[in-house]
Amino acid sequence: MNSLQRSGTLVDRFGSRVREHEVMRDHTPLGVGGVADFFLRVESIDELIDAVTCARESSTPFTVIGGGSQCVFSDFGYPGIVIENHASGHVCAINKSQIIVESGASARSLAFGVASHDLGGLEFLASYSGSIGGAVYSNYMVDNRTLHTTGFVRSSAINDYCKKVTVLNKQSEIVTYNPSWLRSARHTTRLRTQSRETILLTMTFQLFSSKKEEIVRKLSLYSAQHFPDKKISAMVFIDPLTTNAHKVIVQSGAHKLRVGNARLCKESPNRIQTVGDAQAADVRALIDSVRQRVFDKCNVMLEDALDYIGEW
Ligand SMILES: Cc1cc2nc3c(=O)[nH]c(=O)nc-3n(C[C@H](O)[C@H](O)[C@H](O)COP(=O)(O)OP(=O)(O)OC[C@H]3O[C@@H](n4cnc5c(N)ncnc54)[C@H](O)[C@@H]3O)c2cc1C
Repeated sequence: MNSLQRSGTLVDRFGSRVREHEVMRDHTPLGVGGVADFFLRVESIDELIDAVTCARESSTPFTVIGGGSQCVFSDFGYPGIVIENHASGHVCAINKSQIIVESGASARSLAFGVASHDLGGLEFLASYSGSIGGAVYSNYMVDNRTLHTTGFVRSSAINDYCKKVTVLNKQSEIVTYNPSWLRSARHTTRLRTQSRETILLTMTFQLFSSKKEEIVRKLSLYSAQHFPDKKISAMVFIDPLTTNAHKVIVQSGAHKLRVGNARLCKESPNRIQTVGDAQAADVRALIDSVRQRVFDKCNVMLEDALDYIGEW
C-alpha cells in the first residue's frame, strides 16, 4: 500500500485540504526542513481529533505541531502527515479567574488576551513564539525551582497555572486530568514521554486578579525576549539542575560557534538562529558542537529540548 492510499481516510474527511509534498521549512520559524509526504492545517479541536484519529486508523505516521519553534525537521523530510494545529478558541470565566484555551492558541496572544481582563500569571508567555500545545509539551516540571534564563529571573512555568488538561489518548478517547498527571520524569512532561500517543486538546488555567500596571510591567519585560523578526528556534537545551544552559554556553565560548548558516542567537544564546538558506543538518551539527564544547569546558552534558523529526 503506498502512502497516498494509507492516507485515504484523511483525504475522505478533509479532501483537498490534505496537501502533498509540503516543504517544512515554510512551517517552522527556523526555516529548515525538507518535504513532508502530507500536510494538513486544522482549525478546530474537532478537526484535530478527526485528523489524529484518521491518521491512526490508516496507520499513517503523524506529528502534531503548533508554531514549529521547537521542531527541527530533517532535510530528508517527513514520511507521514504533519498536522498543524490552529485550534485557538477560548472560554473565559472572569468571575473565577479561569480560562479554557484550545491547544493551537498562540501562547503570546494568550498572555495579552488574559491581561486585558486584568488576570495575571501568564505574562511570561509573552516571550514565547509558539502554541499552548507546544509550550505544555516542553514546559518541563521545575518543582518551584526559580529559573534564571536570559538574564532575568523567571519564576513561572506554564504548569503552575494549570487547573485541568484535556487530551486525546492513544485509544482516541477524550480524557480530562488534573495537572499532576502531566508530571513525568525530571524535566519532562507526559506529553513528551508519550509523544504522538497523547495529544493535548485544551488546557484550563487558574489565574489571579492583578493590577493592570503590574501586568503591563511584566508583559514588557518578557516581550523584550520575543524576537519576531528573526529565524529563531525555541530553547535548544534543557536547563541542567544546578546551573542554566545559557550560562554554560557563554562560559564555554560556545556562543561564538557557527555551522553553515546556523549560529546561536546573540541576545539569547540557548536558541539557534539561521540566516539565508540554512540546512537542518547545519542546525544539528551546531547543536552537537555546542554540547561538546560545553562538556569539554564546563563538564556539563546538556540535554536536548528541541525535537528532531523525520529521517536523519
Ligand atoms: C522552562 C521553559 C522556558 C521556556 N521559555 C521560552 C521562552 O522564553 N521563549 C520561547 O520562545 N520559548 C520558551 N520555551 C519553549 C516554549 O515551550 C516553546 O517556545 C513553544 O511554546 C513551543 O511551541 P510550538 O507551538 O512552537 O511547538 P512546536 O514546535 O510546534 O511543538 C513542540 C512539540 O510539541 C508537540 N506538540 C505540539 N502541539 C501538541 C499538542 N497539541 N499535543 C501534543 N503534542 C504537541 C509537537 O509534536 C512537538 O514535538 C520555554 C520552555 C520551557 C520548558
